[in-house]
Amino acid sequence: MTRILVLPGDGIGPEVMAAALTVFDALGLSVELDHDLVGGAAYDAEGTPLPDRVLAKAHAADAVLFGAVGGPKWDGVAYDLRPEAAIIGLRKHLDLFANLRPARVFDRLADASSLKPELVRGLDLMIVRESTGGVYFGEPRGIERLPDGTERGVNTEVYSTPEIERVARVALDLARRRQGRVTSVDKANVMESGLLWRRTVQAVRDRDFTDVALDHLYADNCAMQIVRAPKQFDVVVTGNLFGDILSDLASMCTGSLGLLPSATLGPVDADGRRPALYEPIHGSAPDIAGRGVANPIAQILSLAMLLRWSLGLEEPATRVERACEAALARVRTPDLAAPDLPTVGTREMADAVVRELGL
Ligand code: NAD
Ligand code: MN
Repeated sequence: MTRILVLPGDGIGPEVMAAALTVFDALGLSVELDHDLVGGAAYDAEGTPLPDRVLAKAHAADAVLFGAVGGPKWDGVAYDLRPEAAIIGLRKHLDLFANLRPARVFDRLADASSLKPELVRGLDLMIVRESTGGVYFGEPRGIERLPDGTERGVNTEVYSTPEIERVARVALDLARRRQGRVTSVDKANVMESGLLWRRTVQAVRDRDFTDVALDHLYADNCAMQIVRAPKQFDVVVTGNLFGDILSDLASMCTGSLGLLPSATLGPVDADGRRPALYEPIHGSAPDIAGRGVANPIAQILSLAMLLRWSLGLEEPATRVERACEAALARVRTPDLAAPDLPTVGTREMADAVVRELGL
């Protein structure tokens, strides 16, 4: 039987996860759920944010549905035991190298963006961020004391051809099922790793994806273009650091952090299995945690991505996405409050989505 590992985490994580599971239950799928602790919740109970048991379950599961981790409660915890180490650890141990962050604007929400509605109406942008390499992982790294008493902080941007090739393939393959266009983003003008990135992505496209249009942009120009005219993009593929920043930027085209899901995929193994983790792009939102007002849509859409990508359940996934859009036309959580619509809490938002599933 198909098994999903459910890791709610901290802060609003458990609140939005409960909402997503209400939607999951209403779908009546024969999929088994296994719940466990992660992040600060795991640290409090077991002294580590990512217990070995949880890691083993993540390896064995067909997919992981993750909430959010972290919060001020754990500010004093050792750096390698902080709640956020759990998500980094899961990415590293499961080799989750391709972080897919779609920024789609529902028609009814075009007014919620901080950009002009005509710039974002109909937006459907997919950012593919490399998530196990680059400057976040490169060696050497650290802070060292110099003989003159000053200090030096060092991080290293490193990418090898296999690392670039595999994420390029994910992006080019995705584009085939979308509008057939990929924009690769780097700083090839000032960084050798960017030069190799550019050449390698181009070579993969020229060898195996000649039906996909590929162009290249410098990261600073790309940031400007996302704010100027976001609809010019279909799929954007980039390294870890630029992808982190550009995806947060792109997310705000849609109106609220509470709307955006993500998928992080690993390599396909010999049996055709592919590790994958699905999570909202937002964090644990300690400022609103415990009040039942968090927007659960990002978590519910993460569930929809899981159904589509890991379980091949296209029809229920689409049904969940349509239900989210329909529910947002009727009620809103406070982050998206609209004068003409009732403001509701997390649970009522989930109930509204369930009603729109048409069950
Ligand atoms: P955040 O995403 O938690 O919150 C940013 C702002 O957006 C807050 O004002 C919050 O109230 C609001 N917000 C976020 N999600 C929302 C939702 N679903 N509905 C309504 N409003 C929402 O980011 P932060 O405040 O920078 O970080 C808080 C904690 O979360 C930190 O400990 C951080 O390390 C952690 N974090 C975890 C993850 C993760 O688990 N993958 C990701 C980002 C941040
Ligand atoms: Mn980030």
